[in-house]
Amino acid sequence: MSSHLLSVDSLSRDAVDHLMRVAARMEPIAQRRKVTRVLEGAVLGNLFFEASTRTRVSFHAAFCRLGGSVCDTTGFTFSSMAKGESLYDTSRVMSGYCDAIVMRHPEQGSVAEFAKATNVPVINGGDGPGEHPSQALLDLYTIDKEFIRRGKTLAGAHVLLTGDLKYGRTVHSLIKLLSLYAPMRLTLVSPPGLEMPRHLIDLVASRGHRVETRESLASDFADVDVVYTTRIQKERFTAEMSEGFSLSRDYTVDKAFLDGRCSDHTIVMHPLPRDSRADANDLDVDLNGDPRLAIFRQTDNGIPVRMAIFATLLQVEDQVEQDLRDVRWFVPATVGVDDARD
Ligand code: ASP
Repeated sequence: MSSHLLSVDSLSRDAVDHLMRVAARMEPIAQRRKVTRVLEGAVLGNLFFEASTRTRVSFHAAFCRLGGSVCDTTGFTFSSMAKGESLYDTSRVMSGYCDAIVMRHPEQGSVAEFAKATNVPVINGGDGPGEHPSQALLDLYTIDKEFIRRGKTLAGAHVLLTGDLKYGRTVHSLIKLLSLYAPMRLTLVSPPGLEMPRHLIDLVASRGHRVETRESLASDFADVDVVYTTRIQKERFTAEMSEGFSLSRDYTVDKAFLDGRCSDHTIVMHPLPRDSRADANDLDVDLNGDPRLAIFRQTDNGIPVRMAIFATLLQVEDQVEQDLRDVRWFVPATVGVDDARD
């Protein structure tokens, strides 16, 4: 793995497998059974210039769970970028304060530009419609865990990617990451104008995967193992695209779709947030409590995976286990009221 995590492009299959193994070793800490102080004294700079809940908080929590501390800044308004400071200057300044930096920014390529000015590890927390590599790693980790429980393997799996495949950076990173694995079947369904960029389809096809595009969800998906659905990224629309745009229910993943067109073994994932406003037609809440809905197991997996990214970039992954203690505080048996007990 290189010294930054900016794009899935920099990850070899071996590097991904290593991260997956390190993440699995982080589970006792992520599940609040064990405590480590391996990053005691280290400081993370968490710079978010675009809306975020999961990514910002889970990177923060992951660094704390490794024993480090976090400095945060959110939005342009309260940062010096509002005074015209360049990415170069901000990067150099932050490097004097922090041992690792996570950055989210609305412009594609901005995090890579920021990383050019520093020797401190930088993680891309989302650069506009570009990439979101840590999300893809936690998505892969989730698929793997869910498959192991169901006795399946990634080789030959059928994955349906649906929603906004044009601006959804999580699917851009995920499709590249999946393409590093044994040939599988990828079906793409998006509303007109929001299709997966051609170069990504070509890349995946050139690596031996079968890629198929369908117009809507109104067909048979009985052999689909994973439905990965995404929010329409309206914040990236041009004024022309926004005018009169509304998403038809033909693209909604709900209980009727899962019961009628998929199988009991299909799992449903979403990078979240899902847009729960009535006219959004995003992933339906009628699947809440359905064991096939993996979205909260997916968000929980963000912690061990992001811990693994930090531990690997800061080269302490082999020291974590030397340093473990039992937790001393109360931890509920399940963190969500509707969570199943395994
Ligand atoms: N949270 C994800 C992202 O930042 C997905 C989304 O916003 O729809 O890309």
